[in-house]
Amino acid sequence: MADASGPASPMSAPAAPLRRKMIAGGSALLLLPVVPRLARAATILAVRTWPADEYTRVTLEMDTELKAEHFTLDHPFRLVVDIEGLRLSPAINDLVSKIRPNDPYIGSVRAGQNRPNVVRLVFDLKQDVAPQVFTLKPIGEYKYRLVLDLYPKVAQDPLMALLKDAENDPLAGILENLAQNSPTEAPIPSVEGQKLPPLARNRQPDTPPPQPRAAPGARPGRPILIALDPGHGGEDPGAIGSRGTREKDIVLQIAQRLKKLIDAQPNMRAYLTRDRDYFVPLNVRVQKARRVQADLFISIHADAWIKPSARGSSVWALSQHGATSSAARWLAKKENDADLIGGVNLGAHNAQVAKVLLDLSTGAQINDSIRVGTQVLNEIGKINQLHKNRIERAGFAVLKAPDIPSILIETAFISNPQEEQLLRTSAHQQRIANAVLSGIQDYFSAHPALARRE
Ligand SMILES: [Zn+2]
Repeated sequence: MADASGPASPMSAPAAPLRRKMIAGGSALLLLPVVPRLARAATILAVRTWPADEYTRVTLEMDTELKAEHFTLDHPFRLVVDIEGLRLSPAINDLVSKIRPNDPYIGSVRAGQNRPNVVRLVFDLKQDVAPQVFTLKPIGEYKYRLVLDLYPKVAQDPLMALLKDAENDPLAGILENLAQNSPTEAPIPSVEGQKLPPLARNRQPDTPPPQPRAAPGARPGRPILIALDPGHGGEDPGAIGSRGTREKDIVLQIAQRLKKLIDAQPNMRAYLTRDRDYFVPLNVRVQKARRVQADLFISIHADAWIKPSARGSSVWALSQHGATSSAARWLAKKENDADLIGGVNLGAHNAQVAKVLLDLSTGAQINDSIRVGTQVLNEIGKINQLHKNRIERAGFAVLKAPDIPSILIETAFISNPQEEQLLRTSAHQQRIANAVLSGIQDYFSAHPALARRE
């Protein structure tokens, strides 16, 4: 048998079934009893890459928790990751083919057996990075994950993304002004090892605090800014329908449709907390909305329940004191688990900012959220059955911006076969986007002065 050489030629061997790997491991143990680590080499179950402008993630999923050490090299920029307890395998080589040409950070990757039980990955980079390397315990469908997040050395300002969108926009000047005068209490989301962009760095620490912001009506020309937050993404697929429809894909499509509608309004602009398939931690979604000084935050989701008969749309606001029902509590927990499944490097993100957000939730924010949520619910009720006839409340982490009215829309039940089918169609996605826009317009025309509280 050509591939019977087993561990001697792991680079060229085809994917071996588990049984043969175990036999190979057994014979290695007999030959090399003093290196028992070899016999326990971890198995790579899957390799995934999630390239995005904000950061690129590489995930190695394995049957054991493995330690990894990493360092960076300059001229040219490289990231070197040594994974202990691993031998080269076809799965590792699979990683090489999973690097996409349009990856903003990774040019290519090489894998080699650095020491008997250490695999070295060398990432050839397109630019300098602030790497985050961490492990995650099994959760949901996943076993152990080793996660490599490659962030740009200089953090990206969400306001700049807004400006990039605004090229040729008659409102570009106003948005630029907004960027230059953004309040210090809404910092640029960043991770350990990232520098802040020059605009933010140049601000003197003793700059007087910015003037309290008035409602959009009092700021002529400044557009109403809506932060649209498509739930889940990347490692976190969200709920999955019986036909395999993934919540993360549907909600991104709906958010993109809604953004187009909002941007076509003369006095409104939309900002997406994620614009493609990668994971954004819940508190980063909130930080981004605050950074762009959004007047409204709308998180977009699709519901799931054990019984496929459950159906209908629902709209949610934050509750500080318990959920409106046990089903509501269950739902909020499911949505808040996004960070566990999506995978957050605890400690790398600005935990202090996150904590401040949690402590500042206000009754005023919640009252405004209920107002806007009720309008949106009314409009959605015209195009889809409602799950509940009034706005519901639970402790969703993503609704905790203290100063931005925030709602979460469960557009429909992806676990209901009829609604799953509807969610897949562009016509129904467009109907949902139209309804949400109408709800937003109803709210701002009825309560212009409530658009933003201090
Ligand atoms: Zn969701």
